[in-house]
Order: sequence, then C-alpha cells, then structure tokens
Amino acid sequence: MKILVTILSAIALYNGTCVGQAALNFPQDFESGDIQVVLKFFNSYLNEFKDTAQPDYKRYFTKQDCEKYKVPDFIVFGINATYPTYKMGKPTILYIRPENNMYHIKTFFGNPATNNISVLCVTDHYVKYQNDSSLRFVNSLDVNAATFKTQTVSNITYHYPAAHSFNIGRADDLITSVRKLEAQWKLPPHHIDYYFTDTDEELKKLRGFDYCLDISNKNKPMGIAASDSLIFCSGLGEDYFHEVVHAYLNSLFPNSPLKEGLAVLYGGSMGHDLYWHYVRLRTYLAQHPGISTDTLSYIDDETNPQSILKGIICANAFKKEGIAGLKKLMGYTNMEDILKSGYKTEPADWARIFQME
Ligand SMILES: [Zn+2]
Repeated sequence: MKILVTILSAIALYNGTCVGQAALNFPQDFESGDIQVVLKFFNSYLNEFKDTAQPDYKRYFTKQDCEKYKVPDFIVFGINATYPTYKMGKPTILYIRPENNMYHIKTFFGNPATNNISVLCVTDHYVKYQNDSSLRFVNSLDVNAATFKTQTVSNITYHYPAAHSFNIGRADDLITSVRKLEAQWKLPPHHIDYYFTDTDEELKKLRGFDYCLDISNKNKPMGIAASDSLIFCSGLGEDYFHEVVHAYLNSLFPNSPLKEGLAVLYGGSMGHDLYWHYVRLRTYLAQHPGISTDTLSYIDDETNPQSILKGIICANAFKKEGIAGLKKLMGYTNMEDILKSGYKTEPADWARIFQME
C-alpha cells in the first residue's frame, strides 16, 4: 500500500503528461538501420495512451495475440490493475538493438523527485517485422516463457519454469478449492492459463519488467488476474487460490469496490489467510486508537489494511446471510454506501466492522 501511495503521488504530479515522445539515452545510436523505424513505432504506441485509456491493440500486436488476450501487453496493467503504467512515468529509451530476428527496446520510466529521480520501472519490449512488412510487438510471454513447461490439471493449465518440479498435490488442493467455489456460486468450470514462478521478480520479468518499484526485498507471494482466463502468480506454487477467485468472480461484479475483499475472504492475502491478518490488524488498532477506516493505508509490508478491511466486510456479510448476503453486498458500487448500509455509522469505525470472531 505504501507503494500505491507513492504511485498515486507520481500520478498526481504527472497525470496526462507522462506519455508522448520518449527521451533517448545519450550516447546510444538511434539513427542507423531500422532503429529509427522501430523508434517511431514505439513512440506512436506510447502516444496512444496520452488521450485514451487504451489503444487499439490490433494496430500494434498480431491478430493471434489480440484474439488470445484482451490486453496483449502485460506491462500496461502490471503495476496498477486499472491505471496504465505508461501514464505513470516519463520514458527514456536506454537502447534499441537487434536480437534474434527482433528488436529489443529497453526503456526506463521514472519521475523527477526533489533531489533525485524516482524510478518507476525498466521495461523490455520486443518488436518484429511481419510477413506483410508491418511492425508488431511480440507478446512478452512468447519471449520470456519460451522455455516454460506446461501441465493441465482439470480446467487449469499451468505454465512454469523448466527447473521447477511440478507439485501435483498442491494442484489438487487448488482444484478442490475451485470445485467448492463453483458449487457455492453455481458456476461452471472454465479454462484458466496459470503462469507461476518462485519469486515476484521472476514473475515481473515474465510480464516484461526488468525492474518494477513494487519488487520487494522480501519474497512475498504476489499475483494478478489479468483476465478471467489468465493469471500470474509467484510464491505459492500450484495453489494460488486468491487469483483464481478473481478469475471466477470479478466479472460478475465489475463495478464493486469489494472484488479484492472476496478474493481475500476465500484465498487470503500474500500467503496468509484472512483470520491471520485480522488478528494483526486488530492488534495494530488496539495500539493505535482513533484511526478511521479510510485513513489507514499502511501498517507494514505483510498486511494491507484496506484489503483486509474489505475481506472482513465480506466475511461479515457471508456469516450473516451466506452467498445471498455476499451477492447483495457486491451490488454496491462505492465503499461509502457499503459502510453506511452495513454498519450504520459515518465515518465507519473499526469496532463495528470487527464483528468477525
Ligand atoms: Zn487480489
């Protein structure tokens, strides 16, 4: 959450002005051969984010990638699930070089800070000439997961580094949880591509980040559901239920601010279940009285208080009225209404929300 605060201040400073012509890092040669053409293509792509939320990906990615992935660029929502990475920082291209029949573009995204430069991320893009001589990006999985192994268990196809030995026991545990979720919500199984690595850093590399500001010095489980049928996760091997819950339930409630709460209720957060975080949060609040629900955004890098708050609200609704209660709760579109309706208090205080035992 501390990271999110940093990101949000960067956005507040540079909103709408980050994207555009990328700076070129001295003293690289950007003049020779096809480099100028690749540079123009890349700048044109970044420019698309200037005035629109997302570009027409068909102009920049192959037809196959656009058919397979809703967003074929896994960097766009790699830092924030709803705000494009390219709007968050000023780009400087470090180099463009020919590599394996492609062009490799390495770019630094950052923002000026008071006495230094705040680094957002360093990205790797790959561009290739197509048969019709047009340029298109090569999606990062084709490059970075080329040596990955795959294994399908029920409706989940796992993709994992070749050095990993597949743990069928953990995969079976995940499938057991998934079957229970489907039964509770009366949902049919659907296919999910599940990419996983041991560390978050490896996972970021897979998506196209050479560096990203939320890579921690501790290796905590991290994940993201890119769509209903594609998830990325690290640190929990074959059993990262939290992201699978997102893949099943997010699209049922697109406007709910509690999608994270549902995933935390079923799948915990950063490797620990909701009750573990609940106890930590309760202890913290007992030691720091008077904090309102909307001002507490950071405790430490183990427990995200806002995610846990949302998980507790979902748990309370489930305890009271089961799945029907959760469905009703997920129909709200803002937290203010949720807190007012469920807890009859404004601002909502933690004591009323902490009914779960
Ligand atoms: Zn989540």
